[in-house]
Amino acid sequence: MNYISTRGGIAPVPFREAVMMGLATDRGLLLPEAMPAVDAATLASWRDLSYQDLAFAVFSRYITDIPAPDLKELIRRSYATFAHPEIAPLVTVGDLFILELFHGPTLAFKDVALQFLGNLFEYQLRATGGRMNILGATSGDTGSAAIYGVRGKERINIFILHPHKRVSPIQELQMTTVTDPNVFNIAVKGTFDDGQAIVKAIFGDIAFKTRHQLGAVNSINWARILAQVVYYVYAYFRAGAPSVDFSVPTGNFGDIFAGYVARRLLPDGCIRRLVLATNENDLLTRFIDKGDYSLGTVVQTSSPSMDIQVASNFERYLYFLYGEDAARTRAAMAEFAKTGRLQFEPALRERIAGEFRTRSVDRQETEETIRRCYQESGYLLDPHTAVGVRAARAHREEGVPMVCLATAHPAKFGEAVTRAIGRPPELPPALAGLDKLEARCEVLPAEVEAVKSFIERRAI
Ligand SMILES: *Cc1c(COP(=O)(O)O)cnc(C)c1O
Repeated sequence: MNYISTRGGIAPVPFREAVMMGLATDRGLLLPEAMPAVDAATLASWRDLSYQDLAFAVFSRYITDIPAPDLKELIRRSYATFAHPEIAPLVTVGDLFILELFHGPTLAFKDVALQFLGNLFEYQLRATGGRMNILGATSGDTGSAAIYGVRGKERINIFILHPHKRVSPIQELQMTTVTDPNVFNIAVKGTFDDGQAIVKAIFGDIAFKTRHQLGAVNSINWARILAQVVYYVYAYFRAGAPSVDFSVPTGNFGDIFAGYVARRLLPDGCIRRLVLATNENDLLTRFIDKGDYSLGTVVQTSSPSMDIQVASNFERYLYFLYGEDAARTRAAMAEFAKTGRLQFEPALRERIAGEFRTRSVDRQETEETIRRCYQESGYLLDPHTAVGVRAARAHREEGVPMVCLATAHPAKFGEAVTRAIGRPPELPPALAGLDKLEARCEVLPAEVEAVKSFIERRAI
């Protein structure tokens, strides 16, 4: 299986190279040159697999350049850090299913992908004798999950930008208290989009990228999407019905794109609808409802990991929407870069509406959802998950199970939970005592050159 760019400007590369490339050298995003699909018999043979064995079965469709025993070992190590034996347990809460994706070391779903990606990087660097400087921007959860994915690993330094004082106190502590010598936290005086723009600009400087062997961990890395595909398939089996809907709280279009890939992997109808849930930052909701993909300004909400306007994985979906036409995708992205807006004709809008349902959920609804769910079921949602649950309630249909992705543990977002239920959530062991640890962080202006020169001095 080889990988191509959404913009058509690279020669096809195998998986391991695609992982190391992150963003394609033509600035497009990498995708399999043909999307794998399995038949009903294969699907049936996967039904009772453990999470790890299912991951191996799914990965094997997309990864053909890692020997099976090595791939199995990478999977085993990646999920050995999880606190729950099922990795991603599916629980029933009222008339919904909740897929708990927060049993990893940083208590958010990004661990599912980043524990795997960290091991993958180490595996590849060992094989080639290379080194790597990881650079990424986070709105909160990606940063700590990435840092935990590579802390203490040889041949890798990691530089993570987060928006200064715009992540939750616990998220900040989770990142800055990792003081391994290969970990560098940078607080940028700006928004997450500013940080992401800086990272994109630095990756776009090919000379700098090559000199420092820059690698990405943000959600544009194909391996992350792939790791997330597994839990859709796992949840599909656990829900125990021929057809299942998913509700996904979304910012970067990463998690929901993994659902789209899973839907294409499974036979038709297995995954029926994908409900795309956003907070007040409703760019993607407007896209689906109105065929209007246009930049707004970022507003701060109670679900900060989704406070995003530029959805960096959107281009992958766009490529399929345009019938896998790379030239058209490239032209659209150029237009978007120039005007901050894309509009879609009725035929495409119909197609989009057939593939997704959507809802934008505001702060008040989010808190009401946390409160109501807690009162009715005794189950505590984090605000991101609550956005998805609220959207799920709007779109659930009798007879089709609705699986809501629980993307973070409620204790990571204690303020919103406290406002909703009148008391703070209990801190799990992984979070208690973080504020007593030593912390390390560099505050920098939101300028490409400032970040570049910091990296220049500390790169491995
Ligand atoms: C990152 C994140 C999201 C959004 O995921 P995307 O892949 O950006 O769509 C939702 N919830 C939490 C808790 C997150 O950390």
